[in-house]
Amino acid sequence: MSVNRQILLKSRPEGAPSLDNFELVERPPPEPGEGELLMRTLYLSLDPYMRGRMSAAKSYAKPAEVGQPMVGGTVGEVVRSRHPQYPVGDVVLGFGGWQEYAISNGAGLRKLDPKAAPLTTALGVLGMPGMTAYVGLTEIGKPQPGETVAVAAASGAVGSVVGQIAKIKGCRAVGIAGGAAKCRFVTDELGFDACIDHRAADFTQRLAAACPNGIDVYFENVGGAVQQAVWPLLNDFARVPVCGLIAQYNLTSPMGGPDMFSVLRKRLLLRGFIVSDFAAKRDEFLREAGEWLRAGRLKYREDVVEGLERAPAAFLGLLQGKNFGKLVVKVAR
Ligand code: NDP
Repeated sequence: MSVNRQILLKSRPEGAPSLDNFELVERPPPEPGEGELLMRTLYLSLDPYMRGRMSAAKSYAKPAEVGQPMVGGTVGEVVRSRHPQYPVGDVVLGFGGWQEYAISNGAGLRKLDPKAAPLTTALGVLGMPGMTAYVGLTEIGKPQPGETVAVAAASGAVGSVVGQIAKIKGCRAVGIAGGAAKCRFVTDELGFDACIDHRAADFTQRLAAACPNGIDVYFENVGGAVQQAVWPLLNDFARVPVCGLIAQYNLTSPMGGPDMFSVLRKRLLLRGFIVSDFAAKRDEFLREAGEWLRAGRLKYREDVVEGLERAPAAFLGLLQGKNFGKLVVKVAR
């Protein structure tokens, strides 16, 4: 425990981020003060929202600070403690950031039971992305049996859960993903009814063919060209939980939005949300998703990268669709 390797935000990107925006440094591990504890990072979650935190633009959360470790969710082991509720040896879900050791005062920590589920699931299917899918779909999408639910980034952390819950609710689940391997996984392993490759030349036609009764819920994860292909297929009274716009995160000028006349004419319901809006639903989510997982009704795939030093490249890959499943970094050596 002699050194704490950290990945700092070195500079803010203009457009697409690059490796130059990050810096690996070695510092002495911090000492916990009274009421604090020291976590050794076992796993670091890499998530698309981190692109937003790299920018100074006004958003729902404060930007990451230049010269400080990048922010991020972590699973960590308590290795020193001056906190009465978290003795050494506890494993906790926290927000330690891109570093090997992090101090916490206990705020926002949740103890994990390593025997209950693999620890990485607390960052994915049973964590923030899984809960995002659950609340966005059930609270805003409100899928009804027989309806068609479409979701992009369908092999990823959020999209994979959206489609599987849609199936549990008796809907037709249509995924959109980048490439044949991801699409095969989405239909064959996750049980979606169809999955269309958004990189295919005839993507728009294939998507329409996969949705013969139109789309009742479009769970918006990507925006951009995918959104444009989905929009004409929306039925009257369709619901659009606006969860993410990853295809647009690196744009330096705004792109044209959806046809707002169709919002009026078809009486569409669009609602943006941040998972924390539904914090009160956490226990319900953990109970339901935990049961589905144990019963084999909810499957997940993780893309685990070894070594903190690989986090920047892995994160850049996430913004280009190079990850296949929930992206997690195994940090502890
Ligand atoms: P994923 O694990 O799905 O990884 C991101 C995926 O996005 C890539 O693998 C890629 O999949 C897809 N993608 C990237 N660029 C493009 C593009 N230009 N066009 C189409 N697809 C693209 O990430 P998450 O499941 O963690 O996140 C999915 C979305 O949900 C993101 O937009 C994220 O910001 C949002 N989100 C929102 C939250 C909220 O509270 N509102 C909380 C959590 C996530 P493919 O190769 O299949 O295209």
